[in-house]
Amino acid sequence: MEQNKDLNQPDIPLAKRIHFNNSNSILKKKLLILSPFLFLLFSFLALRLIRKIEIVALDNLNFQDQINHDHRILGHLPYAEIPKEKLVLIEPNIEVHNDMRDSLLKMRDEAKKDGIYLVFLSGYRSINLQNEIFYSLKSFRNQEAAERARVSAPPGYSEHSTGFAIDIGDATQRETDFEIEFENTNAFKWLIKNAAKFHFKLSFTKNNKYIDYEPWHWRYEGSIEALKVFESSNRKF
Ligand SMILES: [Zn+2]
Repeated sequence: MEQNKDLNQPDIPLAKRIHFNNSNSILKKKLLILSPFLFLLFSFLALRLIRKIEIVALDNLNFQDQINHDHRILGHLPYAEIPKEKLVLIEPNIEVHNDMRDSLLKMRDEAKKDGIYLVFLSGYRSINLQNEIFYSLKSFRNQEAAERARVSAPPGYSEHSTGFAIDIGDATQRETDFEIEFENTNAFKWLIKNAAKFHFKLSFTKNNKYIDYEPWHWRYEGSIEALKVFESSNRKF
């Protein structure tokens, strides 16, 4: 009977017992114990990574927002008109902000001591006058707004309306007034070397991508009010 049973039954292989080697088993046990901590650690790192990506994305968004919303028009920033009581006449037809009067006159005097004769061409300009300058010449020269804006600010967007801007020429080379050639005069070379001592800065350098280079146009940054006015312009993105 016993023999028959053996013969009829299929051959069942003996179960194989697999022995883990000892070190593997310890490692797996350790991993099992550590797994909740590892899970927490990975979650924490993943959350930090996500947060970092979000911050970078937000920064990019703010950066873009600043570029799009600094209220420029054709590359020019808006400037309010200076209140009349802050204007002072420094010579016939040239008015400037009271804050910069002394510095400007001192700069001219110091230049004179070095044999350089600065001449003031244009100071404060009202928004109405700027309107005239922008649109009349635009029409006369048959220019489009963007083309005109390369050489003149639209009304409400000129540094001259603040009283802190001054156009300067060389009294010995008047043919270079408002011309790029002014940069070859001794007056310009002196200004480049010395203007910062009197808190003046060239507004439209060769690096400006919207507005043409104006070597004659300087602005005053020697008072808190002036710095506030030019804060947006000085901000680097
Ligand atoms: Zn100017």
